[in-house]
Amino acid sequence: MNKKILSQLKGKLEKGKKTLEKELSSFAKKDIKPKGDWDTRYPKFNGGKLDEEAQEVEKYISLLPVEHTLELRLRDMNIALEKIKKGKYGICEKCRKKISIERLKICPEARFCKKCQ
Ligand SMILES: [Zn+2]
Repeated sequence: MNKKILSQLKGKLEKGKKTLEKELSSFAKKDIKPKGDWDTRYPKFNGGKLDEEAQEVEKYISLLPVEHTLELRLRDMNIALEKIKKGKYGICEKCRKKISIERLKICPEARFCKKCQ
């Protein structure tokens, strides 16, 4: 892969990683073990009104799938950055063929080519 494109994609990944971590840390705390796992903060109750508490729980429940999606994207970004380090970036994990640059530009953390996705 062209070095210039690779460094552009690396920059995108690093930026994306920071954005995701920021987003996650706004409502979740990072779990130290297992590595890379995040937990949505469960609301703390300190004698508030019942309907307020119900709202908090509702918010917590609605955030769980968001957390999961962000967490998976973050994980894929870390995997992609690791691959760049090892010089294995841009190869489909399934068929071992090159993933197209166009695809990587849209989704730099892609692990599979279009066919295998
Ligand atoms: Zn493939």
